[in-house]
Amino acid sequence: MTTHRPCTLAVHAGNHADPATGAVAPPIHLATTFRHGPAGERIAGYEYQREGDPTNDRLREALVALEGGATALTFASGMAAMTTALESLPAGSRVLFPDDCYSGLRMLFNEFLPERGLVVETVDMADLDAVRAACATPLAMLWIETPSNPLLKVCDIAALADIGHAAGALAVVDNTFATPLLQRPLALGADIVMHSTTKYFGGHSDVLGGALVFARDDGFANKVAHRLHVTGAVLAPFSAWLILRGCRSLGARMAMHCANARKLAEFLATHPAVERVNWPGLPTHPGHAVAAKQMRDFGAMLSVELRGGREAALAVAGRLRIFTNATSLGGCESLVEHRASVEGPNPRSPQNLLRVSVGLEDGDDLIADFRQALG
Ligand SMILES: *Cc1c(COP(=O)(O)O)cnc(C)c1O
Repeated sequence: MTTHRPCTLAVHAGNHADPATGAVAPPIHLATTFRHGPAGERIAGYEYQREGDPTNDRLREALVALEGGATALTFASGMAAMTTALESLPAGSRVLFPDDCYSGLRMLFNEFLPERGLVVETVDMADLDAVRAACATPLAMLWIETPSNPLLKVCDIAALADIGHAAGALAVVDNTFATPLLQRPLALGADIVMHSTTKYFGGHSDVLGGALVFARDDGFANKVAHRLHVTGAVLAPFSAWLILRGCRSLGARMAMHCANARKLAEFLATHPAVERVNWPGLPTHPGHAVAAKQMRDFGAMLSVELRGGREAALAVAGRLRIFTNATSLGGCESLVEHRASVEGPNPRSPQNLLRVSVGLEDGDDLIADFRQALG
């Protein structure tokens, strides 16, 4: 399947017809245990669900094909994927994280990784000189998130992978916002791609999951797999099936998500109540050139900073009717969130910022909703 284009892969990868019945939609195998020989010989390749099952294997196959990797692992959530990868590094390893990133990752590296013996630092990854300077000391892993949450900062994956490799580090990219339909980090030189499959892969706000796709099926990939199978943050077969079902329409959904985001971003950028729109597809975005180089389209996450501070942002969020005030992203329905209100006691997001996940409604209705909410 690897010679096909992404939309074809999204529909077909891992979707071989069930040999027993010819069923075109895959079965869900709920079995926790699989018959083996008297001396433990695996008969069909499976033994115990925590170590792998046929439904998860189909999803792993789809992820490998879409990201162009050598092997993939699926997890109970995006956070489980991150944690299992990071805790597979030896104690004393130094890891560099982006200054703007998913808030769960920030909690993980501030609260939990140091007590596991990891040395954690943050840097602005859009500033390559700052990353080069930080890579002067030995580094185990460079964690990249582009476009980033919630400021939609863009960083150059190929350049960062080169800098990381020169320092002896693995380059990992959180590709949740872009999906492999828009951006393929392994082809740009990254070593590992991470996903919260809860978002665009699942696509319907009804399943939690995570994934890692590895460029090489090597010692580190085996180490992470072994840790997953022993520590057990595995994905349930029904969840794997739902994510695989979402994957089948990923190409079509991403095309419409991106078209709607473009319309909305262009409208918001001209509105007098708006101070700034953060969407990499706008030529005024500082990361536009890099995004145009490494992405097929610019994604459907954006954030908007309003004139009038916190009050103005909360008023707009309260007046929107089609957009639901809720966290998360990547579902069919459009969502809006005042990030500073949900980031805990020390919010990092600007108080006048609303994060928007642009959904699959009619783009003109989304514009009309913002027009009435902005007043
Ligand atoms: C949601 C998200 C995660 C965490 O994934 P969960 O499935 O919620 O555990 C990580 N990175 C990004 C960019 C996300 O949006």
